[in-house]
Amino acid sequence: MSTTHDPDHRTAHVIGLERDEEDGTLLLRARCSECRKTVLHGAGTDLDAVQLGWRVGHCGCGDYELTDPHRVVPQRLRVLRREDASFREHLQVAAHRRRVEDAEEAHRRALAEARTLPPREARRLRREAAEVLDAVRAALPEAAE
Ligand SMILES: [Zn+2]
Repeated sequence: MSTTHDPDHRTAHVIGLERDEEDGTLLLRARCSECRKTVLHGAGTDLDAVQLGWRVGHCGCGDYELTDPHRVVPQRLRVLRREDASFREHLQVAAHRRRVEDAEEAHRRALAEARTLPPREARRLRREAAEVLDAVRAALPEAAE
């Protein structure tokens, strides 16, 4: 639809796409082509479902179509996807570190408890605790839930 010169076809050009740090909402920042005011429009939380199109105007000019003549959205989506990926990776690494620390603590407790047990049970407890610790240490962070 190339009706950009139709005076009734108002547009607002996208100048930014950000994610609200608090609630994860995607925010499209645009500039009304008529009054040049900067407006913000929510765009859901899904990077794969960002939509432009008609919006109720936030500037007093009436409705306008959000358009992206400068290809801001695809460029920002690439950056946001990278940020999401590294954030998820960070969470996985942190969760793995916590599981290893928990397993080390459980291992220490088992060794202490083994000292109070008859030799055969002590050996079994130590072996089981060591196996659990090895398994947790060997697990990759990606295996995190
Ligand atoms: Zn306006």
